[in-house]
Formats: sequence, structure tokens, C-alpha cells
Amino acid sequence: MIPDYHLHSSYSDDSEADIYDMVKSAQEKGLTSFCITDHYDRDYPAHYPDDFIFDLDTKSYMMDMLKIKKELEPTFDMRIGIELGVMPSTAEGLNSFTSEHPGIDFVIASTHIVDNEDPYYPYFYEGRSEKEAYGRYFETMLLNVSKFDDFSVYGHLDYCVRYGPNKNKYFDINDYKEIFEAAFKIIIPKGKGIEINTGSLYRGLDVPHPHKDILKLYKEMGGEILTFGSDAHSPEHIAYDFSNAALLAKSLGFKYYCTYNKLVPEFHEIP
Ligand SMILES: [Zn+2]
Ligand SMILES: [Zn+2]
Repeated sequence: MIPDYHLHSSYSDDSEADIYDMVKSAQEKGLTSFCITDHYDRDYPAHYPDDFIFDLDTKSYMMDMLKIKKELEPTFDMRIGIELGVMPSTAEGLNSFTSEHPGIDFVIASTHIVDNEDPYYPYFYEGRSEKEAYGRYFETMLLNVSKFDDFSVYGHLDYCVRYGPNKNKYFDINDYKEIFEAAFKIIIPKGKGIEINTGSLYRGLDVPHPHKDILKLYKEMGGEILTFGSDAHSPEHIAYDFSNAALLAKSLGFKYYCTYNKLVPEFHEIP
């Protein structure tokens, strides 16, 4: 079983999952390892009092996770990761994140905010075409990639298509190809990777993130580092549809998936 490298627990603002329930569910599904990646979005712009703010006391998170990791060690190989929400305004300040958090295994960098708005909400798409909204998202992702490099893989590269009015129905990579080429020209030589994220599949899409044409471009440009993540916020979604995601990766020529130990990628053959 491919270990799940994108998981949220109650340490994330938007999850109530007990971490031990996550481990139990993973073990029931045959996993012997996973990497927990709770949310931390520095300066997340909440617009309403009830909005999540995705804050995290990262130092005490690390302390708790190191304790849990040790406790689980005899039966389960838990790796410690984080999903850092990056914005052009916070990117540079986050570049010392891993040196400030010894013991961390893995970092997902994610674009969750564009021009002070989260594409999760419908107002992000108002007053412009879907293509313009997606384009603005991808431009921001590229800006983040150019300013921030303290990460292992870039998360859900086309996160916006999860929530756009027509989702991926009219998505065409040719509309944004230069942006992805520029991003991969930065990511690949730095020894960083991307993820296949199956969180789209239980959110109404029929394909994982990113779109297969984006994955294909990444491979063609020499990208090898690939992790698998379900983006589960509750135990039942752990390793969601990894078998089909593995088939997709193999059909595009990927031979390996990665796990991480203290920020160092480990390559394993895709089963
Ligand atoms: Zn995310
Ligand atoms: Zn996530």
C-alpha cells in the first residue's frame, strides 16, 4: 500500500479527526505508514467571524507529533509533515520553516489564497470568467514557487478547479501552459516534487489533482518526485482511490512514488 502523504487531524482548523482514529483507519486499510500534514496558513485572511483561520502553534504541534510518533513506532511508521499555505506576502518569511522545526519529515506547499480570497468560496469566481479566475490562481502559485522553496512537494496544483463553477469540465492546459512550464522549471531542478491528490474524487470531480495533462507535462519536463495524498480530513477518506491514482501515474510513465524521512525523499516502485 502506498503511504498517504496528505492528511489532516484535529490539529487542523477544519478537521475534527482524532489522530489515533486516523492511524486505526489507516491500519485497517493495510497501511503501515503515513505522513500527517496539518494546516498552517500564516496570516490567513478571515473575512467573517466564524471563518477558519488555519492557524497552528507549530512548535507545540511538533512536540506532540514527535511524542505520538515515538509511541506508535512499534506498530506504525508515522512521519511528521505539515501543509503550509503560502501567499506571496508570507512566502519569504516561511523560508526558514524547516530549520526552525527540527524533526519535520515533509512539507507540502499549497496555494490556498489568491488576492486575499480563498477560491473555496464562490465569490472568488464572481465578476470574471472561470478561465480568468483559474489563470489568476495559477499565476499566484507561480509567484509562490518563485519566492518560497522550503518545501518537499507542491500540493494540489489546480486546487481552484475543485471549487470553480464548472470544475474541470472546460479545463485546458494550453490556456495556462507557460505558467506550469515556468513553475516546473523552478521546482524540478531544486529537487522538489508535486503530489497526486485524490481529495477531488470525494468532492465531486472524476479525476485527481492535478489534471492529468499537468502531470504529463511535469513528467515530460523531467519531474520524478511524486507523493500520493488523499487530503483526508476524516478517517474514512484515508488513501482514497489510490489504486486508480497509481494506475494513472503509471500510464503517464511514472515508476516511483516518494516518501520522506527528515526532508529526504525515498523512492519506491509504484505497485
Ligand atoms: Zn490544501
Ligand atoms: Zn490539505
